[in-house]
Amino acid sequence: MTARIIDGAAVAASLRSCLAQKVAELSYPPGLTVVLVGDDPASTVYVRAKDKAANAAGIAAQTIRLPANTTQADLLARIAQLNADEAIDGILVQLPLPAHIDTQAVVEAVDPAKDVDGFHPLNVGRLASGHPTLVPCTPLGVMTLLAEARTPLEGARALIAGRSTIVGRPMVSLLLAANATVTVVHSRTRDLAAECRRASVIVAAVGRPELIRGDWIAPGATVIDVGTNRLPSGKLVGDVAFAEAIQVAGAITPVPGGVGPMTIACLLENTVAAAERRRRT
Ligand code: NAP
Repeated sequence: MTARIIDGAAVAASLRSCLAQKVAELSYPPGLTVVLVGDDPASTVYVRAKDKAANAAGIAAQTIRLPANTTQADLLARIAQLNADEAIDGILVQLPLPAHIDTQAVVEAVDPAKDVDGFHPLNVGRLASGHPTLVPCTPLGVMTLLAEARTPLEGARALIAGRSTIVGRPMVSLLLAANATVTVVHSRTRDLAAECRRASVIVAAVGRPELIRGDWIAPGATVIDVGTNRLPSGKLVGDVAFAEAIQVAGAITPVPGGVGPMTIACLLENTVAAAERRRRT
């Protein structure tokens, strides 16, 4: 038997259409501002996609493009203006920032109530202490895909490969909140394969092409592949050897078309949530 493919593009499309409906019922358009410093080609593509998806959902989205030589003081002043602007519910500063800017200072400058990336230490702390408000978009998308796959999480052994602040660590909090028994593996883990084999849920976020092999996966496990790795051939692959894993897993996300489309949909979800929360208080 081969695994069921979890169609992230379809789940994301349905989430976006639910959000558009919700926005249409609001008496105001939620406001989202993306700040892009410099002209990194990948960031430019992401920002354009975010802007387009947000506007399609009825969110008033704008992108502020600043030159690569923008000073930290200028960027912080821009963020202060956006924090004070009542029409703006969500602020996203596209990362990475140019090397002369202190990224953490910028992340901490965003009003936590408008922090739709969920990276502000207050939101990170709330999530870690089991009181989430705005949750980082990619892990939020992973949870939606697990729900879509009807993967039982309560008491399940869930393995997270990778401990980054944007994916691995927030995944720990979200899976713990869902009452999973969580293991995190990373580059110093002794026996990655053995750890993986014990899990009924695997979330792979290591950024290593096809690191996780089919024979590391327990039969019937749900595998969510966050990895996006470009091979020298130009092909995009995940952190899981998909052709092998699909023979063993119960459900699996493809790359592309799995977690990727969820990230933007969850940014819109966070923007609407931030708007509803801010404008209620
Ligand atoms: P990251 O910050 O580079 O972290 C990678 C993590 O993987 C680290 O914890 C590292 O361990 C661990 N790792 C690296 N090599 C390993 C190995 N051989 N064995 C075990 N663990 C290993 O990565 P990230 O930002 O979380 O991103 C991970 C992947 O997800 C990337 O491919 C990225 O492009 C993708 N991504 C996709 C989306 C999306 O929307 N689809 C969003 C975010 C990220 P140490 O901590 O010990 O170094």
